[in-house]
Amino acid sequence: MKFLKNSLWALLCITVAHAQNSTSYWQQKVDYKMEIDVDVEKWQYEGSQQITYTNNSPDVLDRVFYHLYFNAFQPGSEMDVRSRTIGDPDPRVGDRISKLTPSEIGYIKPTSLTQDGAKLKYEVVGTVLEVDLAKPIQPGESTVLAMEWDAQVPVQVRRSGRNSKEGVALSMTQWFPKLAEYDFQGWHADPYIAREFHGVWGDFNVSITIDEDYIVGGTGYLQGEPKKRRGKKTWVFDAPDVHDFTWAADPEYIHDTYEGPNGVVLNFYYKNNPDIIENWKKLQPKTAALLEYFNKHIGPYPYKQYSVIQGGDGGMEYAMCTLITGERKFGSLFGVTAHELAHSWFQFLLATNEAKHEWMDEGFTSYISALAEAEVMEEDNPNPVAGSYRGYNFLATSGQEQPATTHADRYASNRSYGITAYSKGAVFMAQLGYVIGKENLEKTIKQYYKDWAFKHPTPNDFIRVAEKISGMELDWYLTDFMQTTNTIDYGIQNVSEENGTTKVTLQRIGLMGMPIDVYAEFEDGSKASYYIPLQMMRGEKTNPTPDIDRVVLKDWAWAYPTYEFEIPTNKKVKRLVIDPSKLMADIAPENNTYEAN
Ligand SMILES: [Zn+2]
Repeated sequence: MKFLKNSLWALLCITVAHAQNSTSYWQQKVDYKMEIDVDVEKWQYEGSQQITYTNNSPDVLDRVFYHLYFNAFQPGSEMDVRSRTIGDPDPRVGDRISKLTPSEIGYIKPTSLTQDGAKLKYEVVGTVLEVDLAKPIQPGESTVLAMEWDAQVPVQVRRSGRNSKEGVALSMTQWFPKLAEYDFQGWHADPYIAREFHGVWGDFNVSITIDEDYIVGGTGYLQGEPKKRRGKKTWVFDAPDVHDFTWAADPEYIHDTYEGPNGVVLNFYYKNNPDIIENWKKLQPKTAALLEYFNKHIGPYPYKQYSVIQGGDGGMEYAMCTLITGERKFGSLFGVTAHELAHSWFQFLLATNEAKHEWMDEGFTSYISALAEAEVMEEDNPNPVAGSYRGYNFLATSGQEQPATTHADRYASNRSYGITAYSKGAVFMAQLGYVIGKENLEKTIKQYYKDWAFKHPTPNDFIRVAEKISGMELDWYLTDFMQTTNTIDYGIQNVSEENGTTKVTLQRIGLMGMPIDVYAEFEDGSKASYYIPLQMMRGEKTNPTPDIDRVVLKDWAWAYPTYEFEIPTNKKVKRLVIDPSKLMADIAPENNTYEAN
């Protein structure tokens, strides 16, 4: 009996170690209680935290890791050196970190750390704190880790920091010792080099004591009016079910609230600067409309508030809030808000590991925010994602493309990271609509939210949802498009007429297979479409243009480089086009059209 039990357990662990799905899925939990006291003269703060960490994994943990992100802002850090050695550095970073003086750098220095009261051994290694536990945490057990630390807020270089270009005093992102995530792929104690995050789900209670003239906004619900004591105020926030906590503070913030759909309170914090006030007022109803769009097309926003905060160095998404620069033209202010708000779903609720699957947060966000922007601004745009297709085409034909499985920090250039994550990721989603049909894509996005919100979905989890919704086999689509640099290139090789029949020969030139839509226009002005399913899909999409009669032809099995079909009609073919929707990311579309002379 014991033996049987053990082997069953081992079998379960092996399954868990190699894949996750919604039935065998587990995730760690961490509840934070933090108190900090800020000195705005020195830009330093003292912090203490007590975290309750629950090990829901099947593994015994004898170590834990924390991120100490502020340590990246020190001369000689990995972030500094990477920025000075990459060919196309982020201009916001450049060599600025190398020039920070001791009073301008960032740091987080732990001064004590205990586990259930017992002192722990730890070592600061760059931006990561390595900790040996006094007592291993057994599966299903919880432990309390208590830390005290001193920190200095760096001069604003990237994302977080003090005294931003626009004069925002404190952009407090990635500011606290943050427990690294342990999931079915093990520890993710990624050093902070340039980008992307992965965190443990949990509840936060954060108490911030700061000079009384500062206004504080960020993640979480304010618990009553801030209490005043000796020239300082203490702001207490509760944030349930999040995996990060961010705040910003400035003595000159205007704080507006606007009621969004479902009673969600939208907060806007921006500097009392006459040049920007009108734009920030105009943004408020538009943000409500964007929220409505995402509620409808992804799933209902589950928190009671969202805050758009002037801060940071561009735009960056956080839990229940975003920090964006505010001195922008209205179109840009609206665009960045649309993008960052969409991230509330793609990463802050559907919390993919951004370092490994950067395209799932940036790409899905770029896709849905482009659609939302077009609808909210009432643009008549047949393909709001067209810019992403252009970006992807540029990269795919440049010879510089790397597979989207590349870790976010380890692309050869910032440009190839950017195009892969944002543009190719958006194309992945839009093109999936070409493969499975628009309705199935819409259903897939909603079901993905239902199945995976408040979890850590992987690419496989997403494509499995699409498979179940569409009834098609789609692993080939994920594998070829995101895990290799195979490209799509189909062409019309030959068109000939014999005895009133038009014989069409298509050619697959690229390595990646796709189902093919061919549209025909005849001399008499009539139209028809021909659909060639890719055999390994084991399914067919519905007719995307029901006003044009569609003929479903026999499958095209991938290995065959050519495919022939006949148009059995006495009508004369005037024109043939492969995929006029241009949703298929064919890298050489010039061979997709045939015109009779
Ligand atoms: Zn983004």
